[in-house]
Amino acid sequence: MRLIAATFLALSIACNRAFELKDFTFGDHDYNSLLNVLNETNKKCPDVSRIYSLDEKTVEGRDLVVIEFTAEKPGTHLAGKPEFKYVGNMHGNEVVSREVLLALIAYLCQGYREQDPEVVWLMDNTRIHIMPSMNPDGWELANSRPRKNGQKPWLDGRANANEVDLNRNFPEVDKLEYKYEKLEGGLNNHIMSLSKALSKMNLAPETRAVIKWLYSIPFVLSSNLHGGDLVANYPYDESRDDRKTSQYSASPDDGLFRYLAKSYSKHHLTMSDPSRKPCDMSGDLELPEFKDGITNGAKWYSVAGGMQDFNYLATNCFETTLELGCNKFPYPEEEKNYWEENKAALLNYMFQVHIGIKGLIQSGGKRVGNATIKVMNMPSGSPIKHDVLSGKQGDYYRLLLDGDYKVRVVAEGFHPEERCITVANKQMQQAQVVNFDLTPSNKERTKGQTGCIPTKQLDLSSGTEQFLQDSLYDKLYGDYVYNTKDYQLYNYLQRILKSVTGN
Ligand SMILES: [Zn+2]
Repeated sequence: MRLIAATFLALSIACNRAFELKDFTFGDHDYNSLLNVLNETNKKCPDVSRIYSLDEKTVEGRDLVVIEFTAEKPGTHLAGKPEFKYVGNMHGNEVVSREVLLALIAYLCQGYREQDPEVVWLMDNTRIHIMPSMNPDGWELANSRPRKNGQKPWLDGRANANEVDLNRNFPEVDKLEYKYEKLEGGLNNHIMSLSKALSKMNLAPETRAVIKWLYSIPFVLSSNLHGGDLVANYPYDESRDDRKTSQYSASPDDGLFRYLAKSYSKHHLTMSDPSRKPCDMSGDLELPEFKDGITNGAKWYSVAGGMQDFNYLATNCFETTLELGCNKFPYPEEEKNYWEENKAALLNYMFQVHIGIKGLIQSGGKRVGNATIKVMNMPSGSPIKHDVLSGKQGDYYRLLLDGDYKVRVVAEGFHPEERCITVANKQMQQAQVVNFDLTPSNKERTKGQTGCIPTKQLDLSSGTEQFLQDSLYDKLYGDYVYNTKDYQLYNYLQRILKSVTGN
């Protein structure tokens, strides 16, 4: 017990040992001074940073700028190095995120120059992308409005210059996913192609630019940062029952997402404090209760067309939404306090991109992209019904909590492969490497499968039944998700199995 307590304490200290920022001026950063922070940072840390802009500009013609940090080859995805992102100020009048991300940018550069062990480790092992403002046009409008009783108007500048709320403007993938769930045989990841996503009516240029960005870089973990409340929000954001404005709508990774949200809220100075005063600025009659400083998005209030769920369902990226404070547009002199409240949490959350497993999918030395990585909880055998895909270079990343799992890799033209693993995550340690070498399906497989049998898997021994079991397995966890016509076969096999086993 004492040993466990000591270990926990050591881990906590490791991620709260944030140093003081030098040479950074807090206060409202308008568009030009935002660019200055990025340029100055890039000048100070040229070897480990790069500035780039997304493919399209805002309605008013501003660049959507991103700064990237990584110790080796900025500008290049390296297989095995996970990609992380923070997006701030998506609602232009929610400025705390913009300011704390600018401070974080200065912090990462200073930390690298001063060889801070945490920052150096992050940069050595991660590619970090930070977009301090996704809605610079909205910021300009909000900033131009006078304060009344210290507050800016609640909504002015929230939307883009065409009055489009960017966090309602993404393709509604949740509804599609809920439909697939009912079919028990539809896609559970990458459920929309890039061209289909871009064909959505009335996409704002900012949304379109971000969609292209999400498909061009294999992000693993991210958060989009807001203001107006103080809570870490996780998928799904849209209610399963579309008649309900509030309904807990768990994703297949609910436990993982709760952990990720807590990995922010528990390191924030006040977010998870049960005695803090709740925000009461939106005029809600009933104040929501946020135990541990986290909430399921749809339980709080249902949102359609949000960016968070689009990340999770259309790409490999797991995203949360962070609300950084009750006041959306505080006075400039308060911004340093927000940084102090958030800095340990911002850092700790970035480390979470290294939990779980990662590896290369290859066949005879050739990388296999677009392979599906499926995971089952062990020993129960219950699948986590959200797969990830390997990228163009054959690398994959699967965030997982501590525990035993069976990992199954399915790729067109290859025999499926399985591996049984135990995940034991540690702070400042890369994800466990689990590589797969696949055998082409036109060749006989020489390697045996590793033996971990989930308790749910049926114990059948005769040849015919084994065939049925394998077929059912493939229908359950194999490629059936890509072909809903197979669902009829799956149903048929399941009926036979039920009659065989009496279950
Ligand atoms: Zn917001």
